[in-house]
Amino acid sequence: MTAYVSAFDLFSIGVGPSSSHTVGPMRAALEFAHRLRSTGTIDRVARIGCTLYGSLGATGIGHGTPDAVVAGLRGLAPESCDPADVRAAWTDLREGATLRIDGSHEIAFSKTDIVFEPRTRLPGHPNAMTIAAWDAAGGVVADETYYSVGGGFIRRDGEDAKLASAPLPYSYADAASLLALCDEHGLSIAEVARLNETAERPEEEVAAGLDAIWDAMAACVDNGLHSDGVLPGMLKVKRRASMIRAQLEEAEADGHRELPGEWLGAFALAVNEENAAGGRVVTAPTNGAAGILPAVAMYWWRFLADSGLGAGNAVTPYGELVGSALLGFDGTKAIDAAQSDDDEAVADANRRRGIRRFLLTATALGSLFKANASISGAEGGCQAEVGSACAMAAGGLTAVMGGTNRQIENAAEIAMEHHLGLTCDPIGGLVQIPCIERNAIAASTAVTAARLALRGDGSHYVSLDAVVETMRQTGIDMSTKYKETSEGGLAVNVIEC
Ligand code: SF4
Repeated sequence: MTAYVSAFDLFSIGVGPSSSHTVGPMRAALEFAHRLRSTGTIDRVARIGCTLYGSLGATGIGHGTPDAVVAGLRGLAPESCDPADVRAAWTDLREGATLRIDGSHEIAFSKTDIVFEPRTRLPGHPNAMTIAAWDAAGGVVADETYYSVGGGFIRRDGEDAKLASAPLPYSYADAASLLALCDEHGLSIAEVARLNETAERPEEEVAAGLDAIWDAMAACVDNGLHSDGVLPGMLKVKRRASMIRAQLEEAEADGHRELPGEWLGAFALAVNEENAAGGRVVTAPTNGAAGILPAVAMYWWRFLADSGLGAGNAVTPYGELVGSALLGFDGTKAIDAAQSDDDEAVADANRRRGIRRFLLTATALGSLFKANASISGAEGGCQAEVGSACAMAAGGLTAVMGGTNRQIENAAEIAMEHHLGLTCDPIGGLVQIPCIERNAIAASTAVTAARLALRGDGSHYVSLDAVVETMRQTGIDMSTKYKETSEGGLAVNVIEC
């Protein structure tokens, strides 16, 4: 079995606030609507109902799950919809409302057609949902159970948990075999990921796709840094990223030195506030943990990437480790600034190459967590979401800072090790507290993990495989109270007002 999951599955452009509770259910409902159409049964449907089980039933309302289900049944896809069309698609339903299945066949639909059963846990996965369609005589037209298995991935009951559609040229099952593969072929971890991606699609398409992922991440950071107000939901959480941006810009305008560490936190807050507001977000590898990778990548882009390109650039903590030769996407050297008249264009092209390497490295690492443990908070607690994202970001940063494969593995291991046991206990079932701040803290942990790994030689006591397995076992042992049910931890010790 190969652990590798494509970057285009792991980093999917979708909507907030949750990959498992919003994006996954929306995809399941869309798949159901498409199935009705493709089987030619759509016109027989007189009624549709959906039951949300377990964690989807417990925290679905706070995560916008019923809105996502209605949007998916209407034929909207997470990657292409206007997020505004998803928000309140169920919440705002009025008496006598109708639903156009897959944008065409119209039926009556009411809020009570979505049923919540938080106490029922289906054996397939804690995030389960059943969608059924009936004809006018009450006969079942179609009936499917789906599992939202984390990161926006779904599985239909009865299907295998398929991780790769075709044999890949560079298959690996765990971190040890990934490192051995790299040694055997003289490849970096990013190159293994790139060669797996280019087995499925042309090189230019891979590069353009990675650039599109980065552009969506960067746009999300920017939107969050420029949006004020209060987040949806009863907690009335005030957005902070924009205020911090204004403070940092003012300080820098007053001649203070740049404050990279503070920007790092602001970048993460910006993404998670956008997510909580139901905006356009890239799952990385989930929505709840979506701020960590973009924040660390943006931190590198803005404060570290150019430090090795020519004299006179700001000295950074890694200035001595960064060189243009380390920024290539495909093993070729990055463009030398001295070869071009347009320094900014060259620097931008080189930064993009670095981001591709960052994302590919993070993909190779994230695949290990998905295959051998979990990236779902409902399955493994927050260690599976924020811990995995932190490890992916730490590895990605180490890669673009010129780290070796073993330093990358070390950075990911450090980052995951110190998230082991982290519970998921969102207050009010909203992906806001502790989630938003937690991403900022994890972003700084990722940078620290990369720093520690880059100062070493890659040798270390605890292997990445050992922490992945520890995370898996800890997730199994963790009480369901701490697995995205909002029945324990902060969720029951802080009064919602
Ligand atoms: S506590 Fe962690 S796992 Fe739970 S919803 Fe928040 S970010 Fe996701």
